[in-house]
Amino acid sequence: MSLQVRKKMTIKEEIKKLADKLGYSLSENIDSDNNCFIAGNEIFIGKYENDEYLLISFFHEHGHKLVSQSFIKSCNYNTLLIEIEAWNMGIKAAMKLGYYFSDDAIVWAYKERALSYERENSNWSEKYKPKLWKYQKSPVARS
Ligand SMILES: [Zn+2]
Repeated sequence: MSLQVRKKMTIKEEIKKLADKLGYSLSENIDSDNNCFIAGNEIFIGKYENDEYLLISFFHEHGHKLVSQSFIKSCNYNTLLIEIEAWNMGIKAAMKLGYYFSDDAIVWAYKERALSYERENSNWSEKYKPKLWKYQKSPVARS
């Protein structure tokens, strides 16, 4: 009997294992840099130089599945808040499975990815302008 040395998995193998465990199929999306997206139960993986950014992005897509409909409704479908919630949920799910991310990856996730959405120029803020605190006199002061 020989002692088997377990080879360290590559990031792709690791993500494949996670996808199987969580019930996703994976597709490569080679035209896209540092970006993943999810459609149904299929996660599309872009090109990443940084393995940890890829892993945290995978969990972000999983996070999208975990964001509740009631949260989405309660924030009036605000994409920015939904994105942040999906990062939060994904990172929490990762930690439950024993994956902890470096501050570098977390800062990248929120700063470069989540906060890159430009809400103020979107149709969303036009639609919800009357409800936005910024455009209202204080609702508390009114009666
Ligand atoms: Zn997202």
